[in-house]
Amino acid sequence: MVGSRTLSKDTPLMQQWRDAKSRHPDALVFFRVGDFYEMFCEDAEEGARLLGLTLTSRNNGGAADVPLAGVPVRARDEYIERLIRLGRRVAVCEQVEDPAEAKGIVRREVTETVTPGAVLTDALLVANRNNYMVALVEEDGGYGIAAADVSTGEVIGSAVAAAGLEAELARFEAAELLLPRSWEARPLPVADAVIRTYRPDWLFERDHSAETLCRHYGVHTLDGFGVGPQDGPAVRALGALLCYLAEVQPSALATLRPPRLERSGSAMALDEMTRRNLELVEPLRTDASSGRRSGTLLEVVDETVTAMGARTLRRWLLQPLVEATAIWSRQDAVAELLEQPAVRRSVRAALKEVRDLERLAAKAGAGRALPRDLHALGASIARLPDLTEALAGAASPLLGRVRDGLDPLQDVRLVLDRALADEPAAALGSGDVIRAGFDAELDELRGVRDGGQDRIARLQASERQRSGIGSLKVGYNKVFGYYIEVSRANQGRVPPDYERKQTLANAERYVTPELKEWESKILDAEERIASVEARLFSEVRRRVAAETPRLQAVAGRVATLDVLAGLAQLAERRSYVKPEVHSGYALGIEAGRHPVVETMMPREQFIPNDVVLEEDRRFMILTGPNMAGKSTLLRQVGLIQLLAQVGSFVPAAAARLPVCDRIFTRVGASDNLVRGQSTFMVEMQETAAILYGATASSLVLLDEIGRGTATYDGVSIAWAVTEHLHERTRAKTVFATHYHELTQLGEQLAGVVNYNVAVREAGDDIVFLHHLRPGGADRSYGIEVGRLAGLPATVLTRAKEILLELEGSHGAGGAGLGRTGRHAPPAAGAAQLSLFQAPEPAVLKRLRGVDIDRLTPIEALNLLAELAAEARGGA
Ligand code: ADP
Ligand code: MG
Repeated sequence: MVGSRTLSKDTPLMQQWRDAKSRHPDALVFFRVGDFYEMFCEDAEEGARLLGLTLTSRNNGGAADVPLAGVPVRARDEYIERLIRLGRRVAVCEQVEDPAEAKGIVRREVTETVTPGAVLTDALLVANRNNYMVALVEEDGGYGIAAADVSTGEVIGSAVAAAGLEAELARFEAAELLLPRSWEARPLPVADAVIRTYRPDWLFERDHSAETLCRHYGVHTLDGFGVGPQDGPAVRALGALLCYLAEVQPSALATLRPPRLERSGSAMALDEMTRRNLELVEPLRTDASSGRRSGTLLEVVDETVTAMGARTLRRWLLQPLVEATAIWSRQDAVAELLEQPAVRRSVRAALKEVRDLERLAAKAGAGRALPRDLHALGASIARLPDLTEALAGAASPLLGRVRDGLDPLQDVRLVLDRALADEPAAALGSGDVIRAGFDAELDELRGVRDGGQDRIARLQASERQRSGIGSLKVGYNKVFGYYIEVSRANQGRVPPDYERKQTLANAERYVTPELKEWESKILDAEERIASVEARLFSEVRRRVAAETPRLQAVAGRVATLDVLAGLAQLAERRSYVKPEVHSGYALGIEAGRHPVVETMMPREQFIPNDVVLEEDRRFMILTGPNMAGKSTLLRQVGLIQLLAQVGSFVPAAAARLPVCDRIFTRVGASDNLVRGQSTFMVEMQETAAILYGATASSLVLLDEIGRGTATYDGVSIAWAVTEHLHERTRAKTVFATHYHELTQLGEQLAGVVNYNVAVREAGDDIVFLHHLRPGGADRSYGIEVGRLAGLPATVLTRAKEILLELEGSHGAGGAGLGRTGRHAPPAAGAAQLSLFQAPEPAVLKRLRGVDIDRLTPIEALNLLAELAAEARGGA
């Protein structure tokens, strides 16, 4: 336990601190002492280290001094923010009684615990993304999941089978995980950086959870929320989540909406690797040399103008639809807003004036909204009629629903308009907040204050006259209050009733009894104004808070509208077309583009490509040298399909697309920078997951799978995976590979077609055409790519010699691991076998295993030297 050795000798303050710390052992305790939040003991040491504060010590009444580090109260949020970003939690222990009235030591209590999953301050939130706390329980081999964003009030419950866990967790991008204590040692498919919080297992029990939910929402049964017998695991997670939130952010509980239960099958599950490989919302890598980040799909397609819309778009991208009717309905809305530019313009113009209703409402509900927040809320509500009007003629059912559901909230607006000043001060007590005429007492107090200020202003003229000092000035400063300033030169003429207050270099400052009297009247009035304003303001805030559910409902519709209008804007800006989404099998893209890569180059430089995947050509083997554009094409197909299922238009000249149940993307180990230290094992696990998870309705994108191992193994695995997907799964697949051997499959399997990304040879150089064409690539052009990469000329020349020798000895008709495609196609069956025959010289074997693309010049030279030695010895 914390410092028990000194407990008996502690001062009362330290006892209070230890008490708070023992209840929040996993948090740093910010212990309010006057104008500082102090950290003590081990917190002080850690806090000082993490925040770069000076570590001092505090005399502890005879006991050993305790380490101490503090931050000023006004800088609280800034320091908390830094600690949260470092993955720590902070328990804020406030003085809960007025020090002036306290008998003995001031009472203190932890009023909130700021943890990454439950933050309410703007500084800690990202406007365009949700901040979810996610709770997890296991039941019968499946999982119950609950997610809540206290900054928006959203609460979601779902249940998934074990295989769906990773995708479900990926979708929420949890800021924090709440788990049963018994899971402490358990590995989970989320990044290590995500903070984990453990609570006793009983907190996750069904009865306890159901009771918590009923009590919180004031209902007798959960039926009203649509909870059915299948939702047991979700309810357990929801109850535990609510308990934990009550512990850390009690003030936010009131704004939580009733849980929305999401059943599996209502949206496409995107596993984490797919989400990351397609760079949907996060870039895969930062190019260390240039510091340039690769772009994300979200960055390119986000044309929203409100934070609510941006968050919603992010959710849509991570949760594509799987029902054609739902997709059509979004498409219709986007099409209408695209075809009616005037409507779109007025919608977007009005939206631009709408602030983050959802978070403002939650702030009001948590009693945290400041005057400017409520003012912004009022101003935003004032734009709602413009939206309704702009949508008056909307024909799309979705737009119609948004319009008809837009509660104008005029009663709320009236409350705000009447009560708040036109430009209220930023914070209470720093100026006027409440409108003149709203409250008689307030008006009177302001009259007194203003009268006093007038009086003092007039004092300057009368005192000048009385003393005959023309330069006499009446002024004010925060420390000394009102004063009369007389320059040194005029000291002799100062009237006798002036009382000296402060001496400056060239002047003296005085007060007079009259000045003091007016000053105290003003101060009195100001103090009372502040307290009346605080009372009136919190009354207004309470009234707004009572309407939180309505505000949240409007926020949801505004967000939807913003996303739809943004997608229309996107379609126009980037020339996207409406894909024909159907419930059949075939995928056809005409002149498709990669939505992100195309924005990184001048428009005409990106080469569009056609892709067709249908029953009898459902598996595309894609070959071509490094840098030809294989990976780009593969992701382009995935992104176009995904955009279509979000309801968006797509970057192509035309597209006919099916509804996929899943999109899988895997990148072979050597290309895979996602997991840093990716191993072949991981690559194979991921491949296994696809083979189990994919169906005929899936889209599978494999980029260089099998590359993480020796060539023979790699080809064999790639080969078998291809056969499995082609024959059993029958999923539409694009497989980019540098194993040219696989192109043989194009001739052997009915549904497999070969394509390559064209290059043109120009002397010793190659030109990348980025153009997709039928057939396997004839060569890998490894040497040419080596030249582009700057391999020394001697190495290149020698490599060419070796290549010629190899081709000569192993060439025409041979179906060895060399460069098959260019030569006569091997006879079926025989070709496959020949892959694994060949008792041959060891040198050849080694050479064959060399991946020229991956050699550094030094390695190449060393290798050559070794090979030469070996050949001389062996021959
Ligand atoms: P590979 O996977 O075949 O090695 P990439 O897909 O990584 O090749 O593409 C290499 C580079 O070529 C990309 O960074 C991009 O700049 C460019 N590129 C790819 N496809 C195209 C295209 N269709 N039009 C223009 N440039 C392209
Ligand atoms: Mg590639």
